[in-house]
Amino acid sequence: MRLVLLGPPGAGKGTQAQVLCKDKGWAHLSSGDILRGEVKAGTELGAKAKAFMDAGQLVPDDLVVNMMVSRIARPDCAGGFVLDGFPRTAVQAEALDKALARSGRPLDGVVSLEVRDDEVVRRISGRRTCPQCGAIYHVQTLRPKVDDVCDRCGHRGLTQRADDREEVVGQRLVAYRRQTEPLIEYYRRAGLLEQVSAEQPIDQVRAELDEALGRRQGAVGGASA
Ligand code: ADP
Ligand code: AMP
Repeated sequence: MRLVLLGPPGAGKGTQAQVLCKDKGWAHLSSGDILRGEVKAGTELGAKAKAFMDAGQLVPDDLVVNMMVSRIARPDCAGGFVLDGFPRTAVQAEALDKALARSGRPLDGVVSLEVRDDEVVRRISGRRTCPQCGAIYHVQTLRPKVDDVCDRCGHRGLTQRADDREEVVGQRLVAYRRQTEPLIEYYRRAGLLEQVSAEQPIDQVRAELDEALGRRQGAVGGASA
């Protein structure tokens, strides 16, 4: 299945995508993770993106579109993928549609994870990530089994993202409401949209996500399940 997860920063897109992709064998493509990888590797793209990311603003469309379209073309995406954090603007959504249409593999569905701003702030301020494998935790709701040690890869030392500081979170939310939220309507018109309340425990969100995917698979004839 080729799926987009929409939702504000902190909605739980990465949390759901990680579990879903592990279960189904789909590729999980987080544009934020890929960009952070570029920054860490010191590439030209990373250098261009860093100032925007630090300020909580969106990285320019042309950079992100090229990066994601070439990532989607890689063989691990042939069996299905989940896009987490991309597209984030109308220009990106249209470019994605065109690229997928060219390869004859259009999107099967878009799930919007919906959460109020105050809950987003609570989630983001408690988020911790494994700098080695990208696994996502929360200081209250999703703690690792051993304090400060990643369950998935055993790395010691979970970190807080620089852009998860409160001053930057407000800016990221503004960018979401202004530039990304209009995509809900864009995908509704395309007949691809499913909406899920993400203000529930992680397992409950997952159950509703599964139901939404079931409806989408029905709609596309179960072809790419
Ligand atoms: P996104 O990828 O949308 O930015 P994440 O998946 O990184 O969001 O989740 C943000 C934070 O909220 C993480 O610390 C995660 O553990 C926590 N979280 C995710 N889903 C839920 C949920 N349903 N209830 C409570 N906390 C959650
Ligand atoms: P995320 O990990 O999804 O919260 O993204 C972190 C940051 O990376 C964002 O605040 C943006 O600066 C940048 N970013 C990630 N995805 C995109 C995108 N699709 N378009 C523009 N900027 C992005």
